[in-house]
Formats: sequence, C-alpha cells, structure tokens
Amino acid sequence: MPIQQLPSHVAAQIAAGEVIERPASVVKELLENSLDANATGISVSIREGGVAEIRVTDNGCGITPDELDLAFRHHATSKLATVDDLRTVSTLGFRGEALPSVAAVARVVCSTRPPDAESGACIEFRHGTRVGQRREGCPPGTSVQVADLFGDLPARRKFLRSASAETARIQEVVTRYALAHPEVRFTLSVDGRETVNTPGSGRLQDVILSVYGSEVAGRMLPVSLVDGEVSVDGYSGAPDLNRRNRSYTTLLVNRRWVYDRSIYYAIEQAYQGSLPERRFPLAVINIGLPSDQVDVNSHPTKREVRFRQGDRLFSLVQRAVREALIAHAPARVATRSF
Ligand code: ADP
Ligand code: MG
Repeated sequence: MPIQQLPSHVAAQIAAGEVIERPASVVKELLENSLDANATGISVSIREGGVAEIRVTDNGCGITPDELDLAFRHHATSKLATVDDLRTVSTLGFRGEALPSVAAVARVVCSTRPPDAESGACIEFRHGTRVGQRREGCPPGTSVQVADLFGDLPARRKFLRSASAETARIQEVVTRYALAHPEVRFTLSVDGRETVNTPGSGRLQDVILSVYGSEVAGRMLPVSLVDGEVSVDGYSGAPDLNRRNRSYTTLLVNRRWVYDRSIYYAIEQAYQGSLPERRFPLAVINIGLPSDQVDVNSHPTKREVRFRQGDRLFSLVQRAVREALIAHAPARVATRSF
C-alpha cells in the first residue's frame, strides 16, 4: 500500500482509543471536566454498563455558545496556554482531548449554559460527524449525554466486558472521585437505580459513610501529617477491615485519583504485618504537595504520575499511616477488653 495520510475522522478514532478505552473512561473524563468547572453537584446516570447511555450533568461554569464548537476540537483547552503552565497545572484536565475523543466514538449531545448567560446551547455529534448546534434554554451548568459507545467500532465493542462488569468499573470511578471531593455532591444512577449519593458536606467521613456504610466508617482512623510543604491526610482502616484487593485503597495526589505502586506499598508497609497475607487495607489517602513536585503528564489517562521526591513521599506516607494506626489501636483494644 502506498503511504497516505489517514482521513481526519479515521485518525481521530484511532487517537480516541488512547483516552477512551471503555465506558468508565468516558465517565472519568466527564467527571474531571465537571470538577474543573467547579461544580458543586454532579450527577451521573448510566444504562447497560454505560454502552447504551452515559449522562453526566453538573452545575459548573458552563461553556459559552460561541466556544462550544471549539471545546470539541482536538487540543482545545481553557486550562493551559504555554508549555510552562504544564509544570504547575492544577486542573484535572489540560490536554484538550477528552471531548473530541468521546465525540469520535459515540453519539454525543452536550447542552450547556454559563450561570450568567441568558440562554444556553446544545451541540450534537454522531461517531465523529458534527450534526449541528442550536441555542437552547437549559439550566446553568453542563450536561453531556453519550450514547451508543463504539457503535461503529465493532472491534472495540468486542473488548468490553459484560454490562455488570462495566458498571462495576463506573461505580468505582464515581466512588473514587466522590472520596476525592467531599465538597461535591455526587449521585450515580445505574439503570434507574441510585447506587451512590454523597452529601457534599466537605467532610471525608460523610463520604466514607455513604459509600462504605456505617460499620466501615466507624472504624476508619484519621491520618494527618505535615512535613514542610507536603501533607498527608485522610483515613486508614483498622487492620481487620482488610479487603481482598487494592480497589479499597484510594490514593489521591492533590485530590487527583492516581495509581502509584510505590506509595501503595508504603501504605501497606505501615500495617507492618497486621494484615493477613494477600489482604489489603481500606484507606483514603491524599498527598498534598506543590504542583511542580509532581509530573501528571506522563500517561494519556493521567492515572500514573511521577514524583520529584518519591523516596521522601514513601517514608512520609508510611509514617503518617503508621502513626494513625498506633495512635488509635491501643484505645480500641482497651475498650474491647472491658
Ligand atoms: P481539557 O479538559 O483537557 O481542557 P476537554 O476536551 O475535556 O479538554 O474539554 C475541552 C474544554 O471544554 C475544557 O478546557 C473546558 O473549557 C470545556 N469544558 C468541558 N467540559 C466542561 C464542563 N463540564 N463545564 C465547563 N466547561 C467544560
Ligand atoms: Mg477534560
């Protein structure tokens, strides 16, 4: 075959694969946009594991009608302007890739209105083709509806798991972001049934109570340590709250949900043998640090980050969790024996 440049919609669908792997990736990207828009309430509803429909509605800053088209172009973002900004970026998004990627692989309708604008607008795409845009009276904030995900990419669809497995992943994403942002009210509705509902009180304990229940909430130990410009805070479960896998350990870096092997290990090490073999702690740990101490731009989905001082963070996290366990364990033992 001769070398030829791919038509732009084909290139877009291939590129979209990097960001949008499955329904849970759509939910993640849309939640991040809502959080970056300073929403205080975000509701997610899904049908059939998110393949039939995902809808994310927020009460954030909205998009002005004349910028709506641009929001769906590649590399179009309001979150940074220069390469320098990348070093200190504090928003969850900055690549300008999510909306165009979702629009390339699904049917998308986005309705939005900035709170101070008189009317809003609605734009529609079908598997990469822009259908049109119209003015619309809509509530302040943004609502993105994504339907028929990978509908014209049968090969992608085949890789998806059952609706219940995809739902579980979405449930996990919403739960983790709710834990990361106690000040935001989150709801998730799965095929019409509400499965997540957090109060938005600003208190992490309240989120833990609503997502893990009162038995767990009553046995979480506060973690709090400050060392110079780095802080480690959150809650760690009593050792016997252990779980079979790591999906109950939530690691946040500046309130961004990330995975970092070494820090996970630091949390587990802090339990020093008080966890049974191959059992993992229930914990929500946020590391707060200056944004130039962490590179979030090392992975397309930003799930992995690079730390400037990884070793220092390892020992701080381990110490913070260990101190929480020590401070509270004797008291618990004492109350139990009476
Ligand atoms: P990024 O988040 O990396 O900037 P996106 O493609 O996700 O890229 O979004 C493009 C732009 O559209 C954002 O920079 C933002 O200005 C706007 N936008 C997207 N979602 C929302 C939302 N829920 N509320 C307000 N503005 C939004
Ligand atoms: Mg984004």
